Amino acid sequence: MAANANPLDALIQALRKLPGVGVKSAARMAFYLLQHDRPAALQMARALEQAVQHIGHCTLCNTLTEQAICLTCADVQRDRSKLCVVETPADQAALERTRAYPGVYFVLMGKLSPLDGVGPHDIGLQKLFDRVAPRDGQGQLLPITEREVQEVILATNFTAEGEATAHVIAQALKNRGLRVTRLARG
Ligand code: ZN
Repeated sequence: MAANANPLDALIQALRKLPGVGVKSAARMAFYLLQHDRPAALQMARALEQAVQHIGHCTLCNTLTEQAICLTCADVQRDRSKLCVVETPADQAALERTRAYPGVYFVLMGKLSPLDGVGPHDIGLQKLFDRVAPRDGQGQLLPITEREVQEVILATNFTAEGEATAHVIAQALKNRGLRVTRLARG
């Protein structure tokens, strides 16, 4: 966006950053807000600013939260021997809504996508490995009986990239002595 763009163009450019919103839809939204609902436009602006300022990532599972540790990770009722790996905070929220899963989560920051240059480092796989297969002071893997996480459930999406991501994680974790299952489709 050019620094001297007029405010209307700047608004349209900003709205276009939303997924699936092209220039026509962005213009429609901008005209709607300015013509019909200026209070909603201001409310949106404030809510966006607040959310961006106050919501960060959980230090344990990466999900979006206002706290250092999210409510799910902090919940003492959750079964910490089970850890479910999902691609995004939205996927985690969808699973939570089913109320069927008692364990804790690890949220990848995306999925492996070699063609787009997204490798294991970019989606925090090392952090996942350190979490589920911690090492002692000498750098030796802790025996499974001394680890908190006993089972990892892979719930990445059933896309080619999601499947590839699940495969890479499954191999790495099996090599570290963990029980790994793939969440069933549907
Ligand atoms: Zn968390």
